[in-house]
Amino acid sequence: MNISAKLKRLDRIYAICDEFSASLTVACRRYCAHCCTGNVTMTSLEAYNIVEYLKKTQQTQRLDMLKKQLLKHRFQPKITTNALALCYLEGREPPEEQSDPEWGACPFLTDNECPIYPARPLGCRCFVSGLNCKDIGAADIEEFVLTVNTVFLQYIEHIDSGGLFGNFSDILAFVSSEKNQKQYQSDMLSAPQGLIANMPIRVLMIPPEHRQRIQPILYSLSRAISV
Ligand code: SF4
Ligand code: SF4
Repeated sequence: MNISAKLKRLDRIYAICDEFSASLTVACRRYCAHCCTGNVTMTSLEAYNIVEYLKKTQQTQRLDMLKKQLLKHRFQPKITTNALALCYLEGREPPEEQSDPEWGACPFLTDNECPIYPARPLGCRCFVSGLNCKDIGAADIEEFVLTVNTVFLQYIEHIDSGGLFGNFSDILAFVSSEKNQKQYQSDMLSAPQGLIANMPIRVLMIPPEHRQRIQPILYSLSRAISV
């Protein structure tokens, strides 16, 4: 699949995610940014989309700043969402992961606002809380919302099979190089240190109690990636 077809599919999945988030009652408000940490993860397709947005909005200097200010400690995932689903399916233990919101804010966060809001990755779009995280010390997310968000992540990884997954800063720094972009467009990427290879969906992580309720979203997602 060429890059513009992938980006169209990504846009459609974002639209479904935004519609779903808008249907929820959440405490999330403009300038509330405790969730904007340097531990956000995303796929290479989402990073490519952000690089295009930065070019369009003349903000490419943010990429240079990001490369100079990589957080010393940041969440670097060892497994993708679809690999995790396969791990559970096969009864294997997933690798232990380490993450701490105290490691620092997202390198793009500016005056408590997101400068790439229309192009922010799924990890930011789907992070919503019923109660203000500051008041309760963590996000308050309904189990069904967690399931739906995991499925969104699985579909985005699926359309970016052959691409990469990793920390927001690492993957953006990688995809911002023109040489890497060309390799990405020609499906010739190999995973450098700190990034891992995406894989297609083998099984969806949907607990039995959510299987009925999630059907309309699954229908929309399967249409979004097939047309
Ligand atoms: S998830 Fe929490 S910190 Fe982020 S906007 Fe919502 S309430 Fe605020
Ligand atoms: S990309 Fe935007 S929404 Fe996501 S963590 Fe960074 S500032 Fe927050």
